[in-house]
Amino acid sequence: MSGSIVLFGPPGAGKGTQAGRITVLTGKPWVSTGDMLRAAVAAGSELGTEAKGYMDAGLLVPDGIIIGLIVERLQHDDASSGVLLDGYPRTIPQAEALSEVAVVSTVISIEVSDDAIVERIVGRRMDPETGGIYHVSFNPPPPEVSGRLIQREDDNEQTVRNRLSAYHEQTAPLAEWYAQMGLLISINGNASIDEVGMAIEEALSGAL
Ligand code: AMP
Repeated sequence: MSGSIVLFGPPGAGKGTQAGRITVLTGKPWVSTGDMLRAAVAAGSELGTEAKGYMDAGLLVPDGIIIGLIVERLQHDDASSGVLLDGYPRTIPQAEALSEVAVVSTVISIEVSDDAIVERIVGRRMDPETGGIYHVSFNPPPPEVSGRLIQREDDNEQTVRNRLSAYHEQTAPLAEWYAQMGLLISINGNASIDEVGMAIEEALSGAL
């Protein structure tokens, strides 16, 4: 499939978890703006310092910052046949900017209720070495990695409620935007990781 795939949905819907599988399936590089911002924060760059306050508060980083970041990333050679976008776009201006530098072929929307999101996010743990994502009850880590897992600073109940508000107010309207273009495929995310993965594979095989 030529063009880029957008993984769409609220925080904690399973976008990052499913992105690993889709990257293997399609060969498209996984581009996560959240990961890019966390790397910038860890590196202590000017951009990271500016973004951190928004991220810690559960607010969206301003479009001007994030659009510059993604436009630069999409100029890399490995992006020439499209990428797998995880966490971008999150606003209409971001989607408009994307349409100027890339062709979006499919938008996979993973739908999960707000109540389930909070439970998922507070139990979520990340493997800083591989980028692997686990959940203390729903997707427990193998013993050899459990000692090095970390919890994201913004994965707490207070922040997740702000992130959900930002999602409903600023990001959810994009679903309609992409639906009108005939690009949106909705997947029920209130299911096991494997079931969601298989539903996405099926949707993509129809679109391949
Ligand atoms: P994520 O890992 O996708 O949940 O992103 C973590 C945080 O990074 C979000 O809560 C935002 O503060 C910020 N962020 C990531 N992607 C974007 C984006 N496309 N637009 C604005 N802020 C973003």
